Amino acid sequence: MTEQNLPGSPGDDLALPGDGTWSDETDWELVDVDVDGQPVDATPVPVVAIVGRPNVGKSTLVNRILGRREAVVEDIPGVTRDRVSYAASWSGQRFTVVDTGGWEPDAKGLQQAVAAQAELAMRTADAIVLVVDATVGATATDEAVARVLRRSKTPVILAANKIDSERAEAEAATLWSLGLGEPQPVSAAHGRGAGDLLDVILAALPETPREAPAMGGPRRVALVGKPNVGKSSLLNKLAGSERSVVDNVAGTTVDPVDELIELGGKAWQFVDTAGLRRKVRTASGHEYYASLRTRAALDAAEVAILLIDASEPITEQDLRVLSMIIESGRALVIAFNKWDLVDEDRRYQLDKEIDRELARVPWARRVNISASTGRSVQKLVPALDGALASWDKRVATGRLNNWLKEVIAATPPPLRGGRQPRVMFATQAATRPPTFVLFTTGFLEAGYRRFLERRLREEFNFDGSPVRVNVRVRDKREQRRKR
Ligand code: GDP
Ligand code: GDP
Repeated sequence: MTEQNLPGSPGDDLALPGDGTWSDETDWELVDVDVDGQPVDATPVPVVAIVGRPNVGKSTLVNRILGRREAVVEDIPGVTRDRVSYAASWSGQRFTVVDTGGWEPDAKGLQQAVAAQAELAMRTADAIVLVVDATVGATATDEAVARVLRRSKTPVILAANKIDSERAEAEAATLWSLGLGEPQPVSAAHGRGAGDLLDVILAALPETPREAPAMGGPRRVALVGKPNVGKSSLLNKLAGSERSVVDNVAGTTVDPVDELIELGGKAWQFVDTAGLRRKVRTASGHEYYASLRTRAALDAAEVAILLIDASEPITEQDLRVLSMIIESGRALVIAFNKWDLVDEDRRYQLDKEIDRELARVPWARRVNISASTGRSVQKLVPALDGALASWDKRVATGRLNNWLKEVIAATPPPLRGGRQPRVMFATQAATRPPTFVLFTTGFLEAGYRRFLERRLREEFNFDGSPVRVNVRVRDKREQRRKR
């Protein structure tokens, strides 16, 4: 590890940003900070999910809503781009649009994939827009999605797209057959009817966005991992061992697809266990379906247990699931399962694989278990507790700044263009996961960021939780000069 002794070696800006997620923000004016340094505008915005089969015009509609021709797509290597979120606003109301496109399962897996997409939207969005190509009419896939969406408690708006002229409007009416109410005629490509559609969407949004479930209830756990690592075996072991499937905890409503399991004397909500128990093993679209399911479980959870088969080499598929967890910002416990099959040789190999493949998450809690024998499964409890405590942790602004001042005095940021960037102030803007904002006078090199993050972790202990750091550069004139 070269950065150990060399904070901020120049030229490494393109390197991976350590274990945390760093981002730069130059819009100083956008930041409203109150006297305690807390951002004022942290109100959650409602989420509108756009669903529908391929080619109906979802992306075109998203771009129409965003009022620009081209959506900036963030490509994260190794992550299936099955959802992209954008900030939008209409009539002064801010909301987030989630485009669920970007995937092309073949015709066979299509219905299942689109239905899964709709289920995901029902769990995570505040309103759902089902886009149908009105020039084609309702296809079998459209009907399958509509069937799923008719159960939705989240409002559903039916957009009859490609109604490019008044004459075509009659075609929209045939979509009443989907049983989702009045079809809203729109031409995403030309903008016709887009304003009316947006009015209908906004009217359907609840006053307050879907809230994160109240604190104090059982903590929510997602059990994730590639197929055959032992997820359902572990679930059965946990549910069986303490004869513990709790039906009801006072004051909580549990989604029917979740399961309450008592461990270490308290109830835990294992999310989307129905998806784990009902194994979908169709040949096509399976990968995609599995990744959607993982995504949905992570969305609903606070902490993830990533199951890895310790008896086999760590694979690309394991790392893809890991990427999804990192992206989700959830706390993380890695459970190396099938430990009963691990001999000394394998153990040695595994250690090397961990160093090589899991270097992104040195902070993750690790336990070795065997779902089939039950070995050490109870060790999951302290690991989950610890990870969640880190995830919830808040560092007081005063303490953070005192500490930061000392660290920076001892090891100042490297010069950049002959200037010394200064970190003027820092605050923890959010928890779950801990998110920090550093206000600086200049760009901080990647190596220096890793250094700061490592020291932050050492000082405040965020074991088991990701940490995010946003850097806000104040000096706008300097920014402009550089461009
Ligand atoms: P997605 O796969 O659902 O995201 O669909 P796209 O947004 O990529 O659109 C699929 C195709 O339909 C593209 O060729 C678009 O230009 C076309 N399209 C989208 N909206 C309209 C519309 O309102 N009218 C017409 N005539 N074509 C449209
Ligand atoms: P899932 O696809 O992740 O839900 O995996 P399953 O729970 O279905 O397990 C896949 C296979 O691994 C099954 O044959 C299990 O019996 C086996 N398995 C699961 N956990 C263990 C374990 O701890 N030790 C051993 N030896 N086998 C296990």
